[in-house]
Amino acid sequence: MSRVWFYNIPFHGHVNPTLPFVRELVRRGEQVTYFSNPTFESRIRATGADYRVYENLKAFESSRNVTHIIHLGTLVAESTYALLPEVLSSMQQERPDFLIFDMSAPWGGIASRQFNIPAAASFPHLPFYWRTVFNDERVFRKGLQSIRPGYGYWRQLQRQTARIVKDFNLRDPKDINVLSSSAALNIVFSSRYFQPYESHFDDSYLYVGPEIDTERQEEPLTISKADGQRLIYIAVGTVYQANLRFFQRCMQAFTDQRFEVIMSVGRAVDPAELGPIPENFTVSQYVPQLAVLQAADVFITHGGMNSISESVFFQVPMIVVPNTIEQAMNAARVEQLGAGLYLEPNQLTVEKLQYAVETVLGEPGIVSGIKRIQESFSDAGGVQRAADAFQNFKQKS
Ligand code: UDP
Repeated sequence: MSRVWFYNIPFHGHVNPTLPFVRELVRRGEQVTYFSNPTFESRIRATGADYRVYENLKAFESSRNVTHIIHLGTLVAESTYALLPEVLSSMQQERPDFLIFDMSAPWGGIASRQFNIPAAASFPHLPFYWRTVFNDERVFRKGLQSIRPGYGYWRQLQRQTARIVKDFNLRDPKDINVLSSSAALNIVFSSRYFQPYESHFDDSYLYVGPEIDTERQEEPLTISKADGQRLIYIAVGTVYQANLRFFQRCMQAFTDQRFEVIMSVGRAVDPAELGPIPENFTVSQYVPQLAVLQAADVFITHGGMNSISESVFFQVPMIVVPNTIEQAMNAARVEQLGAGLYLEPNQLTVEKLQYAVETVLGEPGIVSGIKRIQESFSDAGGVQRAADAFQNFKQKS
C-alpha cells in the first residue's frame, strides 16, 4: 500500500473520468488522497479515497465561464501561483509516496520535481499535437479565432508563468505547462484510434479508453418520450461560455412534436433569458447526462472529450458544434471517423440543424462509425490497465 496524492482541477470534465480509476486504485489497497473542491467531495469519497479541499483555489471559483483556451490557461496559472505554497508545505510535512496530477494541474508536476516524488499525469482530454490544427481548415480557423481575443490573455499568461518561475525558483520555464502538463507516465482516457497522429505519442502515453462511471450519483430527471418520438439531447459542457443564440436556434429548429428535447444550458445561462420555451423542451442548467444519453437518439454537443466518449458509450450519433480549438479538433475527429457531423456555430441556421439531425438519424453508417470507436475504447483496457500500469510504474520508481 502506498500513499498516493491526486491533484485535479474542479471541472466535471477533468474529475469524472478519473473516479473509476481512483476507485480501482483504492480497491487494490492504495491509500489515495484526492484534492478538489466541495462540488466533488461526495463523489470522491464514494470511491473510497480521502478528500481534501484546496485552501486557495479561488481562480476557478470566481470565473465560472471560460471564454477560450488561453483564458483557461490564465486561470490555471493564477491557481498554480496561489496553490504552490500550500502544496509544497504539505508535501514537505507529509511526503506522499506517489503523485498523480491532471494535465491542467501543473502544481502537481512542480511538487513532484521539487521533492523527487514519482508522478503520473492524467489526461481527460487528448494530449495536444500542433499538426492536428493544420489537418482541417475549420480547426485552423478556430485556432485563429481563439488567438485574436486571447492576445491580452496570452500576454497575461506569459507574465504569470514568469512570476511562478521566479518566485518558486523553478529550474526551467518548461517546468510549467498550464494546459498540458505531462509526466513519466501519462494516462489518457481515450484510445489511440481516436487520437489523431497517435504515433507522435510514445509509450509513456497510455491510452486506456474512457471509463464511463455508471455509478455516478446524480439528481434524477424524468425523461418522457412518447412512442415514436425521438429524443434530442443538447448540451454545451460545464466550462466554456455558452451562447444564447445557439440555444435559441435549437429551440426554433426542433419545435416539431416528433421530437422530445432536453437542453442543458450550463450554469452561466438563466433559462429565463431564453424567451418562451417550446412545450417539447426541458431546459435545465445541468442534467444527469449519462441517464439522458441512455435514452437519446441524437446528441448535439459542444464536443468536450467526455461528452464524446459518453455518447459513443451509449451509441448516440453526434452533431458537434464546437466553440474552442480543442473542441473543434474533437469535432473534426468525430466526423472523420464517421460518428457524426461537425457544424460551425457561427454559420448555424435552423435549416442546417434540422438537416443535420435528419442526416444522422437516417444514416446507418454513423452507427458503424460509432461502433468502431466504441471497440477501440473497450480494447484499450480501461481502469484495470491504468491501475496495472500505475502499480508497475510504482515498483520501478
Ligand atoms: N455533464 C453533466 N450534465 C450536464 C453537462 C455536463 O453530467 O448538464 C457532465 C458530462 O457527462 C461530462 C462532463 O460533465 O462528463 C463534461 O465534460 P466534457 O469534457 O464533455 O466538457 P467540459 O465541461 O470539460 O467542456
